[in-house]
Amino acid sequence: MASENPATGTPLSERASFPDSKGKGVDKTEEASGTVEDAQTDGTTVRTGASQLRDSEYTVNVQLSDLQADPNNPLYSIKSFEELGLDEAVLRGLREMRFSRPSKIQERALPLLMSNPPQNMIGQSQSGTGKTAAFVLNVLSRVDVSFAAPQALILAPSRELARQIVGVIQVMGSFIEGLKIATLVPMESNRNQPVDAPVVVGTPGTVQDFIRKRLFNTQHVKVLVLDEADNMLDQQGLGDQCIRTKSSLPREAQIVLFSATFPDAVVRYAHKFAPNANQLTLKHEELTVEGIKQLYLDCDSTEHKYEILVKFYGLLTIGSSIIFVKTRASALEIERRMIDEGHTVVSLSGGIEGQKRDEVIDSFRKGTAKVLITTNVLARGIDVQTVSMVINYDIPELHAPGAGERVADPQTYLHRIGRTGRFGRVGVAVSFVSNKEEWTMLMDIQKYFGTDIMRVDSRDWDEVEDVVKKVIKPSAK
Ligand code: ADP
Ligand code: MG
Repeated sequence: MASENPATGTPLSERASFPDSKGKGVDKTEEASGTVEDAQTDGTTVRTGASQLRDSEYTVNVQLSDLQADPNNPLYSIKSFEELGLDEAVLRGLREMRFSRPSKIQERALPLLMSNPPQNMIGQSQSGTGKTAAFVLNVLSRVDVSFAAPQALILAPSRELARQIVGVIQVMGSFIEGLKIATLVPMESNRNQPVDAPVVVGTPGTVQDFIRKRLFNTQHVKVLVLDEADNMLDQQGLGDQCIRTKSSLPREAQIVLFSATFPDAVVRYAHKFAPNANQLTLKHEELTVEGIKQLYLDCDSTEHKYEILVKFYGLLTIGSSIIFVKTRASALEIERRMIDEGHTVVSLSGGIEGQKRDEVIDSFRKGTAKVLITTNVLARGIDVQTVSMVINYDIPELHAPGAGERVADPQTYLHRIGRTGRFGRVGVAVSFVSNKEEWTMLMDIQKYFGTDIMRVDSRDWDEVEDVVKKVIKPSAK
């Protein structure tokens, strides 16, 4: 059953606990400012501080070493970071982040990525298994910080993800003297300044703007990374921008594509984008993460969904949660109604821009707001370790204009639920279903991944509470 860990037979509820977000002093400044403490910006792993946090981190670490010793687990490794040929400065950064062993994708991808002459890579690994470190370590090993020109470019589909990656590089690279990172996302004050940082992270549209305005000299770029690559190459707008960006780079630039999902149609295209790439891929059936307990709740109607949602928040005393909805309008509507009920919630969708978005995501990372209502803009990549529950208020659907019936979007489902259960942690994913069509879509998703999505009776509140609490309750010490 999905709730058991086949390797150890330990129920999920006993495998890990959640650090209380109260101990987490995530800084929200975006500028690199030298110290590790200051560099812990958007989304970076935070060192343990408060004793309360240390206790639960300890539980996670103990469990993590079990998971990393299991050959069937995506976090498994036989080598240490020291054996992967990384620079001492980077190894210090990893120690500072308390990364004790690589995950499977890190161990397998790094030697291929770092070999010379550089080879392209298409890398796939389950959500929360450390793909960011895999591509960042390669980038850090390839740039020359004494040369003030862009040498590595990392593209991500959202502003929030780009900022998060910058945060990771700042901490991982905090012992590399003089490392500069440029963040190219919409509506920043660096708009008209030439880019001289060796490492550049951005969203495709803004990066294209800089290139077009000749503020970004692409001549010395050695590595191009697309995070969430299937999404970047698939979407009309982003795809075009990525292609244009790639065509302005030197021909020999290394192309690195990473994602948890690579649907067949995109894989074919990805091979054109990254010719002769080394490929590390997985089958659909291997994609679900053991630590994420998947449930669904049958609701009678749309209004009933909302009532159930409000009721849920009686349970959410541990950790943070994300509610995914289909449209900006419903994000705002649910936010308004929940605030009226006295809940502290924030919402983030494509409707708000720039630094306002940063404020929202930063307050969620800090735990000031424990509930984030959002659309698919944050379905991918966002790493907030305290998230213990994801709610699919709407089942993710493919946009198929003109198509008669509604079609499920399994990839988006997987990315959404992957916002919990990060690197060996546990979490619950609850999908709301209010009619036959939605139920059918969810069953299609279940079949696609060969996974178990357990029905919980929304009329039997005790059962709902029981099932959820069994997973996300901190383990007894
Ligand atoms: P992915 O991109 O595969 O979904 P991330 O790169 O966002 O996953 O990493 C998920 C979490 O795991 C992050 O909080 C990161 O700090 C942590 N992490 C990554 N690699 C390691 C490691 N080797 N040891 C411990 N934690 C790790
Ligand atoms: Mg990622």
